[in-house]
Amino acid sequence: MSIFEELESEVRSYCRSFPTVFDKAEGSWYTDRDGVRYLDFFDGAGALNYGHNNPYLMDKVVEYIREKGITHALDLSTTAKEAFLTTFRDEILAPRGLDHKVMFCGSTGTNAVEAALKLARKVKGRDTIFAFSGAFHGMSLGALAATSDRASRQSLRGSLNNVVFMPYPYGFNESFDTIGYMRNVLEDDHSGVAKPAAVILETVQAEGGVIVAPEQWLRDLRQLCDDYDILMIVDDIQVGCGRTGNFFSFERAGIVPDMITLSKSISGAGLPMSLLLMRPALDVFTPGEHNGTFRGNQLAFVAGKAAIEFMKETDLLAAVRRKEQIVRDFMTNEILPLDERLSVRGIGLIWGIEFGAIDPALSKKASQRCFENKLVIERAGRQDSVLKPLPALTIPEEDLMKGLEIVKEAVSFVLGK
Ligand code: PLP
Repeated sequence: MSIFEELESEVRSYCRSFPTVFDKAEGSWYTDRDGVRYLDFFDGAGALNYGHNNPYLMDKVVEYIREKGITHALDLSTTAKEAFLTTFRDEILAPRGLDHKVMFCGSTGTNAVEAALKLARKVKGRDTIFAFSGAFHGMSLGALAATSDRASRQSLRGSLNNVVFMPYPYGFNESFDTIGYMRNVLEDDHSGVAKPAAVILETVQAEGGVIVAPEQWLRDLRQLCDDYDILMIVDDIQVGCGRTGNFFSFERAGIVPDMITLSKSISGAGLPMSLLLMRPALDVFTPGEHNGTFRGNQLAFVAGKAAIEFMKETDLLAAVRRKEQIVRDFMTNEILPLDERLSVRGIGLIWGIEFGAIDPALSKKASQRCFENKLVIERAGRQDSVLKPLPALTIPEEDLMKGLEIVKEAVSFVLGK
């Protein structure tokens, strides 16, 4: 029995899907302790957009450590934080005309969601939040209340309060006027639903099965929020930081959310950091009102600044759009023809292959087959029926093709073709 099975809690999850002991990683490749190499189409669940151990980022981190830079500083002002904030303002916010303030939250994404929901309720003096079917926002109490999947929610039983789920435009609801429905809920004094402080959404539901909201729907939702004095919170934790081909995922719709959560790849090096961006008028937490010990990860600031520089210097967003086209073509020309009941969805470098119309369990078999062929790839969606290619944004095109070919082989294999 390994030490993992002997000592580590049964709650461990991803290691069950990828049963080896990983040792090193570089770019888009892991090496396990036996020297076997695995191509990474999972990307630390979106935390490694710039690849493993990106030398541009890591050199800066190593240099900072060597120079005895502070590693942890609560939320004290430091030179590392100053440099990160300056770069974030100059390279990310200002060019997009965003004047949002930046709040450093506890180290994981779920804490930025907690902060956003707490702040929205404080600002509007209302308890209710609207979230969407298919949403994933994290595992702590408030964020989990806004997360839809039954399996994640069941352990909290009765305590998931004050969130009302609205239909996301997908599946049965794709042909339904979901925005009209929401308007009706807000207008009808017998709807039984209280007006919310905020609507929280992912513009691309990632854990929900890679569901890309239509641009017009996003604009209509923004309008609804304006019409009814409801805050719009975009959770960009998984699909921000360039994943969709823009730095922020909502840019494609030309909307500006009132609040934005960022985490995962914002530090660029897999180091924990999470941010809440808010319009200046919403910056009403009193000092320490949303506090926490680990809001000052200086290594994350150093790497995060370097990541933004790297993105600019390598024109990474243009590369994402180029690679998006490669994946789109592959999905259309190589995956879809394998079986007419398959469907594919995606944008940028987040994609999903849907097995739900055949047998949801096939996605697990396909992921296992990929792993046998040395590709790490996860699943998502209803009944985990979606195989989810999520490579690093920096993946070389040759490796991208290599991974896609392994995916194709696995899909054919599980379909018995
Ligand atoms: N929000 C979204 C959209 C996510 O995809 C995730 C994690 O997958 C979270 C929030 C939670 O982030 P964390 O796991 O860092 O708490």
